[in-house]
Parts: sequence; C-alpha cells; structure tokens
Amino acid sequence: MTQETGGFAAFNLNPNILAAVAATGYEEPSAIQQQSIPIIMAGQDMIGQAQTGTGKTAAFALPILHCIDPAKREPQALILAPTRELALQVATAFETYAKQMPGVTVVAVYGGAPMGPQLKAIRNGAQIVVATPGRLCDHLRRDEKVLSTVNHLVLDEADEMLKLGFMDDLEVIFKALPPTRQTVLFSATLPQSIRAIAERHLRDPQHVKIQTKTQTVTAIEQAHLLVHADQKTSAVLSLLEVEDFDALIMFVRTKQATLDLASALEAKGYKAAALNGDIAQNQRERVIDSLKDGRLDIVVATDVAARGLDVPRITHVFNVDMPYDPESYVHRIGRTGRAGREGRALLLVTPRERRMLQVIERVTGQKVAEVRLPDAQAVLDARIKKLTNSLSPLVADAESTHGDLLDRLTADIGCTPRALAAALLRKATNGQALTLAAIEKERPLVPNSAPRGDRPERSGDRPDRGDRERRAPVPLAEGRARCRTALGARDGIAAKNLLGAILNEGGLAREAIGRIQVRDSFSLVELPEDGLEKLLAKLKDTRVAGKQLKLRRYRED
Ligand code: AMP
Repeated sequence: MTQETGGFAAFNLNPNILAAVAATGYEEPSAIQQQSIPIIMAGQDMIGQAQTGTGKTAAFALPILHCIDPAKREPQALILAPTRELALQVATAFETYAKQMPGVTVVAVYGGAPMGPQLKAIRNGAQIVVATPGRLCDHLRRDEKVLSTVNHLVLDEADEMLKLGFMDDLEVIFKALPPTRQTVLFSATLPQSIRAIAERHLRDPQHVKIQTKTQTVTAIEQAHLLVHADQKTSAVLSLLEVEDFDALIMFVRTKQATLDLASALEAKGYKAAALNGDIAQNQRERVIDSLKDGRLDIVVATDVAARGLDVPRITHVFNVDMPYDPESYVHRIGRTGRAGREGRALLLVTPRERRMLQVIERVTGQKVAEVRLPDAQAVLDARIKKLTNSLSPLVADAESTHGDLLDRLTADIGCTPRALAAALLRKATNGQALTLAAIEKERPLVPNSAPRGDRPERSGDRPDRGDRERRAPVPLAEGRARCRTALGARDGIAAKNLLGAILNEGGLAREAIGRIQVRDSFSLVELPEDGLEKLLAKLKDTRVAGKQLKLRRYRED
C-alpha cells in the first residue's frame, strides 16, 4: 500500500488512474468502491444499491476507465444518468480520473444543448459517453449505429430514470447496444420495475449492497444543517460562534480539505490542526496529544486518520462532509459522548445528499433534527456571552490590583472611567464586530434560510418566504403561457431541475422555455402557447425530485 494511493493500490488499477485518484486526495476506497471495483474490473454485470454520497461515481468510473482502450477512438462505455446535472457531474468525474490518461475523451450528451457538436464528439472518438436517455434516443434516431461499439453500460440512479419516465427510452438504448456488453446498474432503491430490467438485461449480476445494521447512538444530540457545498466553510465558522464546545473534531473527505479547513479556522484565531493519512505517525500523535491537553481545540480529520481517536474532551463532532455510509457516521459521532458525557453531532447536508440523511436516520433509528445557521443576533449574543464569561471572574479583585492605575489613567487622559473602560474593551476585543450592524456586514455570504434546491442562490437576493410568495408574477411575453406546478423550493426543486425535466420529456428546444420562477410552495414556468395542451399531456406522468410535476395552465385572475 503506498502512501499516495492508500487502499486504492490494492485494486491493481492502471497506474495512471491511481495517480489521478492520488491527486484528488482520496485516502481510502469507500465501502461501495471496495466492493464494486473488483467486480466491474473483472467485466461482470453488477447491481449496486447505493445513493449519492457513497462514492458510487468513482465506484464505476475507475474500473470502467481501467477497462477501456485509449488507442481505440470509438465509444466504449456509455453511462446513462437521469438528469442533465447528474450527467455533467459524472462526465466531470470521469475527466478528473482520466486526467493522466492521454487520448481518453469524455462527452456529455443531454437535452437543451445543440445536438450537432454532441454527435461530432462521439464520432470523433470519445471513448466515454455520459448521456440522459431522452437525448441519446434522439441521437439514435439520427444514427442507429452510434452505440454499436459500446461494451460497458452503466445505469446510474436507475430508479430516478424510471421515475422520470425513461423506461421506453431505456429499451430503445438496450437494443442499440451489443448484447455482449457488460451492464452495471446503480440504484438507491430496488423496486420491482428495476428488478425486471435487471432480469431482462443483465447477465448473472453480482449484487453489491452496503450492509446497514441498526446502530444505537445514545447521549449524543444530533442535528443537521442544509448548506450548499461552497458555503461549508462560512457555515462552520458561524456554527463555531454559537456552539459551546470544549474540543471539537470535524470530518472531511479529502486530505486537501483537512488542510484547507484547518487553515481557515486558524486564520480566524481557532487553535486548529489537520489530521490526515499523509501526516507522519509521530506528528499525528502530537496532534492528538495537543487536543487532549488543550493546546489544540479543533482537529479537522479524514475518517482514516481519526481511527481509534479517543479524546474525552471532545464535546462536538462536525460532519462537514457526509460520511460514505451510516456505519462511518455512527463511528464518527462516537468520538464524542465519551465516558458517559454528553456530546453533540452536527451534519452538513448539501441538497443532493438529503437521501443519505434519511438512510442515516433509518439506520440509527433516530431523527436528526434540522437546525438553521445562527442569525446575526445569535452570533452577537454568543460573542457578548463569551466576553462576559471571560471578564466576570476578573471583576472581583481587579479593582484592588488595577483600581489605582485606573484613577491615574482617567486623570492623565482626562476622561471618564466609562470612556476608559470602553477603550480597554475595544483593545481587548481586537476589532471584533460587537454590534448587529457590524456582524451583518461581516457575514455577507451566510444565508438566513437553508437551501432547498441544487443551485446556490445569490447572497443579498434572498427575500423571506412570505415575501417570495407575495411577489407578483412578471408580465408574460407574446405567444407564451404561464404554467404552474405545486412543487417548489421546499420540495427541493431548483429551476434547473424543472428545466431539465421539461426539456428531457417534453422534447422542446431550450429557447422554447421562458422564465422559470421557483417559489417556496409552487413554481411557474413559461411555455409556448402553441401546442400547450399536447405538451402538458406529454408531461402528464413526469416526476421531478421524486414527485409528480402535475403542470397546469395558470391563470392570474
Ligand atoms: P458520489 O456518491 O459519487 O456522488 O460521491 C460523493 C463525493 O465523494 C464526491 O464529491 C467524490 O468526489 C467524493 N469521493 C468519492 N470517493 C471518495 C473517496 N474514496 N474518498 C474521498 N472522497 C471520495
């Protein structure tokens, strides 16, 4: 096992892939990767039961890259994903892992973008095609041979694809592929419809499922917070302001993230250090000793590096990045609540990871309550409380030790004791914001409400819910009709999800769809008046984020 690639080295993957994995900073394969990679590398069919956040993309991307021949300039692997967002995400992951494989190219094929360049990229010899089923079928109608060289097929989030109504498209695609191909199916759930597909189209598939035993976690208060990935550091900093902690461990996924977050914390004056597999054993021990005796208060660690860590001072665990499976969640939060003490565990959840949260709740048999980021008032109260706590033990005898000096200074400066005390406070608090206005100014990126959709919203542009509901619809352009769905931000919908679903299933060009407004409890979409009834009929069974879209014409009066 080399230092750089950790547990990945054992897979015997192409060294160029291992080098790219090492560059991402992953330390150890996740459970789904551990089990799936050898099966897929061996060319076997497989059914993997796993959701987003388990590392499933790399679980199929690494072995597929290993199996393709970069010298052959033709499509060799096809990955089907339910939405444009996921297709792009998977294509980006492939590009990352193929960075050191010259000659390997990846093309993403999805609705809403012109077809010509996509087809050209396939014909120019992209070996990896990542596609949404609807658009891929459009390509097949133009060129039915386009997939004839594909010998690896992955269905990613197969249950979502069926929910979005892609069943018929999948059948068309299966027919266009060589029957000898390898087929790998990933799905969070395995309803009968998925089993039926597996029965018909997979050959003697291996089943991979992350075992989830029920686990008990007592004496640990758990909460979660919804954030966008790019807001995690500012969220962590806000939480630290109000959480009353003694020592704290934060978990992230990569070595780089341990370093980045630890230095962001240090820059804010916290006694923090990183703990990851690249740090030599004796240095790791020093970090843990420092956490034990209070020279450090925060350690930012990867799961691997924190193994066996037992520090009774730890009152809090922050899961800054989602664990890969419920077991590691339970293991992580078990770092607190040691020796019968109470502990608190916070989990940051990005919109795509909400499913994983449900799995954690199911496995631990406990509800992980949602908390919001502290607002400016809460931060102010916490700062004043800290100041009060640090000063109050001094008041009892400070007058006897420093009273005479105070008299002399007020006389020398010619000011009141109140003015002098204020000056000393300013000095002691070192420019820290201690008014509401100053705190609000200092935290421009921290939103007051949690994100609901996939897209980060712009700061300063987040009206409260009542306001959002009341805003009047904007005037409608000529030839457009406004339609309404009861799905809104609180259902986890973002404009791009609606756009993706309507483009994929409605067969419209991107330009045909006008403004999309997502409110908390509903959304409005502008569609062409011409052919509207037909389009709505076509979208009758469409689902977005697992719920029925039920788009209807909306009349303002
Ligand atoms: P996925 O479940 O494929 O959506 O992956 C979730 C996240 O985990 C992605 O941001 C990956 O980059 C990251 N990831 C995947 N495998 C590993 C690993 N072995 N170690 C650390 N991070 C990983």
